[in-house]
Amino acid sequence: MRRVTILGATGSVGQSTIDLIARRPEDFAVEAVTGAGNLDLLAHDARRLGARLAVTAREECYAGLRDRLAGTGIEVAAGPSAVAEAAARPADWTMNAIVGAAGLLPGLEAIRRGGTLALANKETLVAAGRLVMATAETAGATILPVDSEHSAVFQALRGEDGREVERLILTASGGAFRDWSLDRLADATVEEASSHPNWAMGQRITIDSASMFNKALEVIEAHELFGLPASAIEVLIHPESLVHALVGFRDGALMAHLGAPDMRHAIGYALNHPTRAPLPVERLDLAAIGRLTFRAPEPDRYPALALAWRVLEEGGVMGAAFNAAKEVALDAFLARSIRFTDMASVVSRTLDRLSGDTTLPILGPDSAMPGLEDVLEADRIARRRAAEVVERMRE
Ligand code: NAD
Ligand code: MG
Repeated sequence: MRRVTILGATGSVGQSTIDLIARRPEDFAVEAVTGAGNLDLLAHDARRLGARLAVTAREECYAGLRDRLAGTGIEVAAGPSAVAEAAARPADWTMNAIVGAAGLLPGLEAIRRGGTLALANKETLVAAGRLVMATAETAGATILPVDSEHSAVFQALRGEDGREVERLILTASGGAFRDWSLDRLADATVEEASSHPNWAMGQRITIDSASMFNKALEVIEAHELFGLPASAIEVLIHPESLVHALVGFRDGALMAHLGAPDMRHAIGYALNHPTRAPLPVERLDLAAIGRLTFRAPEPDRYPALALAWRVLEEGGVMGAAFNAAKEVALDAFLARSIRFTDMASVVSRTLDRLSGDTTLPILGPDSAMPGLEDVLEADRIARRRAAEVVERMRE
């Protein structure tokens, strides 16, 4: 029996994780589930999984959650620090499926405690990759990537010598607007950006897929997880989303990972690692599919993508600043304050301002490892600067 905790249990990845765990009640005991505003779902899952603890990230939701779980014996807590405390409770396996930079502190708590962290929250690695990986090493924790591309790379690397890797190729569906004419993009609405052609995911990552910010985050995530230089990481548009990533070796061989676009593949791999267990996912019928297509990403359609290599070149806390600026730009688009195409401009202008900012702690690829305070400070400064850029854009 393994003890598991699910952070971000009410989201898209959290629900897919629960789906897999609930099918095997004899194998898993649930320590904690956390969520935010969806109290009905959080309480429902806490009950059916027999969790010991349920936590909402929102202080003001405490009474609502407590009332929904009255008489069950399930402990209830609320607020960001309660989420971090839930992550610190003993567990063999923890899923971090919180969205955004809010996943950083709980993720670090789970890592410090040791055990296995299944990491869906890519923002954690973008903001503080070196710190996260170093903390895991010190604590003896295992980090297993859950982002589908990174799980694919991880699987393709199994049994290989990392020194023989020449390049990583992350595939991208191209998102909602891959076939739109470029002049229509500026008028794209939140609703249009929120529908993904292949994957069912949370709204934020779906919009990030349309803008390709998601792939930019993933390039940085791959660099942090696998230690390859930025120049060895490539992005390829693959509209069918069946090849999730490819690893190229120095003899020219490419190892590809294929599977249906279903997150339960990557989640299940992390849940069962180091073994493989049967998963309730579609088996690919390649003869019926017939063909797989690939093309290079167009820089004009996806200006956000190139920012990843800039961030890696500038190093230090730039990843934290990049992620924070991206979150502000996405919030502004969701609030209909800026246009779809403005998001990349907001982030690149924010980075322009920060590049020359001597108050920003630690820049440069060879700089000392940013500590948690450096990361949080860079996040705060970038959010302020990005909000100013948004304001100026609206004037
Ligand atoms: P989602 O929006 O569906 O769910 C997010 C979860 O985080 C919810 O449980 C929500 O309650 C919780 N949450 C939101 N704000 C919070 C806060 N401030 N503090 C604590 N918890 C909070 O998101 P998702 O699509 O499931 O994505 C989760 C993470 O996994 C993201 O980092 C995303 O980039 C990554 N990811 C998702 C997919 C996917 O298929 N959805 C694929 C790859 C990677
Ligand atoms: Mg992905």
